[in-house]
Parts: sequence; structure tokens; C-alpha cells
Amino acid sequence: MSERFTLPAPDLPTLSGYDPETAARVVRERWGLGTAPIPNLLDVLEAHGVRIFSLAMDVVEIDAFSFFHRKTPFVLMNTSKSGERQRFDAAHELGHLVLHAEENSPSGREAEAQAHRFAAAFLMPKEDVMSFPLWNVGSQTVIKSKKRWRVAAMALAHRLRELGMVTEWGYRDMCIQLSRAGYRRGEPQNAMIPETSQVLRKILSALRADGTSPADIAKELHIDVSELNAHMFGLVPLAVDGEGNGERSRAALRLVQ
Ligand SMILES: [Zn+2]
Repeated sequence: MSERFTLPAPDLPTLSGYDPETAARVVRERWGLGTAPIPNLLDVLEAHGVRIFSLAMDVVEIDAFSFFHRKTPFVLMNTSKSGERQRFDAAHELGHLVLHAEENSPSGREAEAQAHRFAAAFLMPKEDVMSFPLWNVGSQTVIKSKKRWRVAAMALAHRLRELGMVTEWGYRDMCIQLSRAGYRRGEPQNAMIPETSQVLRKILSALRADGTSPADIAKELHIDVSELNAHMFGLVPLAVDGEGNGERSRAALRLVQ
């Protein structure tokens, strides 16, 4: 991909030692996001140089993971979860990338808790959540309101607790109600369509227009087409492409923010 396309350059600050709430605000400021909800998080990440791929189904026990390879950040997503949870996972990995990229960063439970707080603050900015009448609300209001931030009902409930907008008792009660209604594992109501990679979609169509079939790409990578598809959000057209290879030019792909 990097040989044949011009992809957005990585633009992630290193914020080791920041508290997660502040780090989320700094990234939002740097990327000009203000305090509004983010309609599509994967688009935002890709526009700032994060390469996104999906994990194959044989590793579904992993939520998601991220790493830097030659200074380029990568996030691999588990696509078997609800759209809301995938989005939260992507924000959680962004938290790891900005907070824990350096040596001597926290690891284990401490790092997980920080990435979690970062994700909640990044997706549900304090100012925005607090501008809505969500004090001491019940589970039904949470189920309706979660759509604004495109998060799981449980995640919004937890954020309200974190911001002191519901009491500890109210939060526990809400968790029980949400669990009973099936929100512990998924989003039975008001579920969102999972986000997917626009960069991969564009690359596949540019290569196709250039005469390169998915089979050609897979061959070049020494994997088969189904494995290629597993790492590309199922975006690879699986039909056999019989068209001959045309003149292969270096396609310039630029993403407009
Ligand atoms: Zn983590």
C-alpha cells in the first residue's frame, strides 16, 4: 500500500504521563474536532495516518490491538462485536498509541484503565455530555441518548457515573436494568452499523480500476484471498476477476479530510 499509494501521514501526539481526560482533549484540539460527537471514528483515525485492519475470525478472543511499525500507527479491529463496541475499542487503542508508545509506559491493568478512560473522554467529551439533561436519568433515557455519541448504552452509563451525573446507586441500578434488557453483550435497540475502513475501500477500487484483482494482491502478499478479506473488513470482492492486467501505474491516493 505504501509503495503504490500516498496515504495520510501519521499525526499522533505522544502524550506519555498525561491524564487520559486531558490527553483526549489534546488530541481533539490537535485534530480540530472540538467537543462535538465524532460521526465516524475510523475515518478520523485514517485521516490522521492510522492504518486500520480487521482481525481474522480465528482470533476473536482478542478485542483489538495496536502498535507502531516504523513510526506508523496500526490498529487491528475485532469485527465480531457490535458497531458501538468496535468504535470504543478503536478509541481505546488510540489511547494506547498516544499514552503508552514510549518505553517505561504503564502496562497491564493500569494501562488498560487509562486507555479506557481516554476512549470514554474522546468519544463522550465532558462538556458535550454535561450540556444535556442527563442527571440521574434511567436506563431508557440512556438507550435513547447513546445514539448521539454512537457508544454502547453501558459505556454512556459508565461515563455519566464518571462525570458525577448519576449516583453510585443510580449507576448500579442502571447496570442491572441494562443487563436485563440484553445490553451487557450487545445493543438490542438502536444499534449502529459498524464502521469500516475507507482507505482500504478506496485502495481496492483504485487497484481494481488499475487492473489489479484481489487475487493479484493476495498473491503478492503470499496469502490467499479469504485471508486478505479477513484483514480488510470483508471489503474484498470475492468474485474471480478475469480481466487482464492493464498498465500498472503508481496510483496516487489522497484522502481529503
Ligand atoms: Zn488495551
